[in-house]
Amino acid sequence: MSHSTITLEQKQQAFAELRDVKSLFASRGWFPGTSGNLSVRVGDYAENDFTFAITASGKDKSVSTPEDFLLVNQEGKPTEATKLKPSAETLIHCEIYRKTGCGAIFHVHTVFNNIVSEWYWKKGLKSIPVEAVELIKAFNIWDEDARIEIPILPNYADIPRIAELVPDAIAPRIPGIILRNHGIYAWGANAFEAKRHLEAFEFLFEYVYRWDLLAGTIR
Ligand SMILES: [Zn+2]
Repeated sequence: MSHSTITLEQKQQAFAELRDVKSLFASRGWFPGTSGNLSVRVGDYAENDFTFAITASGKDKSVSTPEDFLLVNQEGKPTEATKLKPSAETLIHCEIYRKTGCGAIFHVHTVFNNIVSEWYWKKGLKSIPVEAVELIKAFNIWDEDARIEIPILPNYADIPRIAELVPDAIAPRIPGIILRNHGIYAWGANAFEAKRHLEAFEFLFEYVYRWDLLAGTIR
């Protein structure tokens, strides 16, 4: 498979974007225990030929080093000689890019996204329902009292097993999927939009958590 050439400037810009998002999310405590990963797509896109910059595996994301990011291809393999390893979950990014053609994907583990995914999974649901919350509009869904369902996937230890479920799990209009008791993947046309979507998801998960807790006390 051939690759379009990525210029040095394109690469530096992608790494700079990731660095900004990484330090902002780190300040929110969104990368506990080196978890989480971030990527932005670089250069031309075809469904089976694309390149993206992604966080390297196992790094403390609250600090900035020259070894934080690398470029990988549509199979998640590094495109340049490097000792760095891409995040273990890179294959999930590959499937999301392939299916959606989006420009950026951000993945974080939070207590709210973990608890809410587990709560609904244990109720036997494969998605998290959210209804009539203003921030649903962050997904460009403007229906009055909109109801959305955020897909939940099983959290297999074997990442390729999760990755193969991703294309069919992605729901129209919903720029995110959540792995059960693990974390959310949110994406967008670019880093700005992916960040907006991720923030909206996290708001909604906290909302659902608190709402269900409150509703439980007055039953
Ligand atoms: Zn993860």
